[in-house]
Amino acid sequence: MPKRKPKSSGGLHSIESASRDEISALQLKRLKWSVKHTYDNVAPYREKCEKKGVHPSDLKQLKDLAKFPFMTKSDLRDHYPFGLFAVPREKLLRLHASSGTTGKPIVVGYTMNDLNNWADLAARSIYAAGGRSGDMVHVAYGYGMFTGGLGAHYGAERLGCTVVPMSGGQTEKQVSQILDFRPDIIMVTPSYSLVIAEAFEKMGIGPDQISLRCGIFGAEPWGEGMRGEIERKLGIDAVDIYGLTEVMGPGVASECIETKDGPVIWEDHFYPEVIDPQTEEVLTDGEEGELVFTSLTKEAFPVIRYRTRDLTRLLPPTSRAFRRFAKITGRSDDMLIIRGVNVFPSQIEEQILRDPRLSGNYQIIVTRDGHLDNLEVRCELQPEVSGKINAADSQTLAKDLQNHIKTIVGVTTKISVLTAGTIPRIEVGKAKRVIDQRPKQV
Ligand code: ADP
Repeated sequence: MPKRKPKSSGGLHSIESASRDEISALQLKRLKWSVKHTYDNVAPYREKCEKKGVHPSDLKQLKDLAKFPFMTKSDLRDHYPFGLFAVPREKLLRLHASSGTTGKPIVVGYTMNDLNNWADLAARSIYAAGGRSGDMVHVAYGYGMFTGGLGAHYGAERLGCTVVPMSGGQTEKQVSQILDFRPDIIMVTPSYSLVIAEAFEKMGIGPDQISLRCGIFGAEPWGEGMRGEIERKLGIDAVDIYGLTEVMGPGVASECIETKDGPVIWEDHFYPEVIDPQTEEVLTDGEEGELVFTSLTKEAFPVIRYRTRDLTRLLPPTSRAFRRFAKITGRSDDMLIIRGVNVFPSQIEEQILRDPRLSGNYQIIVTRDGHLDNLEVRCELQPEVSGKINAADSQTLAKDLQNHIKTIVGVTTKISVLTAGTIPRIEVGKAKRVIDQRPKQV
């Protein structure tokens, strides 16, 4: 059955095609408001400013923001649960919490205006992915305190889509509902989309029989190799959506389907900077460093220079007037140091997916032998080759992968090539790629 074409066209918000001067003027106006609002209403941030000797009146141009102190995840934890809110609790319509991928959860809140802006931006993100009013959107991000499910949900409703609030898990049910309801778009983590794709494969259902036209994937890093695999297996266009609880949730930035060249930052609501994580200096666009966001319109939980720990670089505008960023390499705290070499799981993923016989399900096991760290990469064969490849070919495959990782990433690894389906699948939440079995440093 042919895939459905996008339904009615809508339109872009005028700011999405505005000139740089118009965007900068709006940003400066909003930035002044946001910094003052935070300074006036969030005592711990005001104290940081006072310590640094800066005042909101020092903000005369966008670049003056560099004078202001950062906010970090530990500030959020130190003032858990409500200590950084800028409005009284009674003004909040909703709370969310980070999924706690790294450490203790943090709590954020939203006023009615915040929820409205979030729904608008999530809708804008779905529109950028080719979604239109009248489309059916299957949401397989988790619902609950995690921002993924509800963020996607209200965005799809705002765009005028029919939402299937499926949440994560229950893969069989996901698959049967996709077959029965025939949604146009799926919103899900990239790793879980592969689990769904596998379930279709097992049922003998090919990409042509799956109604989905597009998928909007985020919440975890994923590379171009993974994009290729998802697109091939589900017969869709796969685009990247980015967000984080502290800054809003999904829809801080999102990729356009026509270019697929990195998430476009919705710069009318978030001001991005990339800094050197060590010196904390602001880098010029194009240089790789840590992404930092300042919210421009948030009322309940404004963030000023929030250090995301996500590593990437800012790129010039293409399909929209806003800047983009390159695919996130990883979080600075996901980085493994193996015998002195910095290694990100995404770099290993890229090498694995160079070989079409291997799937995007993989695991990295780190152990310590005396003083030496060892890194084992467990990868899986694609179902169509699994069980058919002989021992010699499997050995050559492992050797080639080991060489690629050594050449490109710079570490020696042990490669284990496993049959399809061996690595445990995560049905709810984010994929856990690294199992670090090294004894904890005390
Ligand atoms: P937690 O911090 O507990 O994982 P969040 O859901 O707030 O909870 O996670 C936000 C983080 O998820 C981001 O800072 C980033 O590291 C990661 N993330 C979200 N979207 C993407 C994406 N599209 N690509 C890469 N990483 C992403």
